[in-house]
Amino acid sequence: MTTPHNAAAVPPPATRDHLARVFAQYPIEVVAADDVWLTTRDGRRILDLYGGHAVASLGYGHPRWLEALEHQAREVSFQSNAVPMDVRARAATRLIEFAGLPLDTVFFVNSGAEANENALRLACRTTGRGRVVAMEGSFHGRSAAAAAVTWGSEKWYGFPQRPFAVDFVPRRDARALESAITDDTAAVIVEPVQGVGGAFDMGREYLEAVASRCRATGALLIFDEVQCGVGRTGYPFAANLYGVVPDMLTTAKALGAGFPVGALLLSPGLAGELKLGELGTTFGGGPMACAVIEAVLAAIDEEKLLDNVRAVSALIRDRCVLGPVTGIQGEGFLLGLRTRMPARDVHAALLERDILTGTSGDPQVLRLLPPFTLGAAHVEMLAAALAGLTP
Ligand code: PLP
Repeated sequence: MTTPHNAAAVPPPATRDHLARVFAQYPIEVVAADDVWLTTRDGRRILDLYGGHAVASLGYGHPRWLEALEHQAREVSFQSNAVPMDVRARAATRLIEFAGLPLDTVFFVNSGAEANENALRLACRTTGRGRVVAMEGSFHGRSAAAAAVTWGSEKWYGFPQRPFAVDFVPRRDARALESAITDDTAAVIVEPVQGVGGAFDMGREYLEAVASRCRATGALLIFDEVQCGVGRTGYPFAANLYGVVPDMLTTAKALGAGFPVGALLLSPGLAGELKLGELGTTFGGGPMACAVIEAVLAAIDEEKLLDNVRAVSALIRDRCVLGPVTGIQGEGFLLGLRTRMPARDVHAALLERDILTGTSGDPQVLRLLPPFTLGAAHVEMLAAALAGLTP
């Protein structure tokens, strides 16, 4: 028998794969999932309060989501945006109606970063300006423009230069807005509730101040609702919750509930300025993505999941300030549990007790991003586990 020349260098199959080593790995392997539960290879059942990083809005295996994918795959699995399709038009209408904001046009893409990339490009193009204001603590994605407005991205940015000048402002500091947002500012991009930044809500008053300064200077306001949108705050979008309307709104994650989708919503004024060929994508707005979007929004409406998010979020706030948790911030199902000890230690201790949560950019904030179907009994499990941890 011959031995492969590199046999000694190849670890056994169970421990070797060819994936880029860029993600720290949780000590679990998930092989199945249903509703809010994950099943691991070694047979554990884990309560998922992380939702695949805010993606699993309907939980796992939702019948409506499965049916939409299967039906559309059999009917027409793909056609490009050059070919009109009813399912694409229906998904756009449903999304605009779900939002209920004075934004009337949708450009479908594949991810949050791509939605932000397009929003920032449109802002620079339509205003003819070359500066963008972003918030400290922000996360907007990994592509050239999205990463340029992401706080702390210089650690991994990599490109020789940014596509525009960026001015970061401290969160919730209304006084800093006047000097930062000027007649040179193309756009202000803000997550109304920061996700990676630690479930940090900007609040109505601050967002109103940002919007008002944008109006005064002609800067465009972009709400990045990639993480906080599509019902996660208990409202269609955080824009609805706070009553502040942006010129553009980007979203992704929960919108596809596990299928990769993203969307850029535009005001009528901006939509009117679009020229043929100005934006483009191969997969964005594909029929399977659109069938899923339609199904997700229908499920949120018909199963009254926004009511559930609001009610169960209130319960978490009521029941879970105990053990290592000193307070809770954020909105709906984008919550930050402020912890006495490092959040990563609480995360690890909860995972040992079969509860998956998330950490955040704030070392003292543990993030909860559960599926919208989470119920009161699950909150009691979390409360009991927290009570069992050393404060
Ligand atoms: N914007 C926000 C607020 C996010 O939380 C993320 C991802 O975590 C992104 C943008 C980037 O989205 P994606 O990873 O889909 O490109």
